[in-house]
Amino acid sequence: MRIGHGYDVHRFAAERRLVLCGEVIPYELGLLGHSDADVAVHALMDAILGAAALGDIGRLFPDSDPKYEGADSMLLLERVVALVSEKGFSVSNADITIIAQRPKLAPYIGQMRENIAKSLGISTDRVNVKATTEEGLGFTGSLEGVSAHAVVLLNE
Ligand code: MG
Repeated sequence: MRIGHGYDVHRFAAERRLVLCGEVIPYELGLLGHSDADVAVHALMDAILGAAALGDIGRLFPDSDPKYEGADSMLLLERVVALVSEKGFSVSNADITIIAQRPKLAPYIGQMRENIAKSLGISTDRVNVKATTEEGLGFTGSLEGVSAHAVVLLNE
């Protein structure tokens, strides 16, 4: 078994969609980024690549490349899964933590788990997504942005 951790941050911005774990969340602000800025999926991809010792998404999908402008992070996730399976790994489980002061994410957690499980090709009971605030502290607390952590276990 191989374990990997991923972490990412994106800044809140006006006139952007808020996409988390492939789910479009209705909110007055979205996340800024070259792709769709799905911070949770970015952390997850880095966790998978980390477990396989294959670097990170910045190396795989450079944001200097116009090809990835507005990219659907769920499709990038499927490419990451294909890459690690070529190397003989399969995803055992994933645990994602999204840190956001707002909006309330509880109503979307079920659908997020399903989206991620589908892209990983595993059952929903192997995917956990949770959301927390930082009690109004720091950059998430002041609504400057959203951060996400992910840990993944790969089977060799
Ligand atoms: Mg990112």
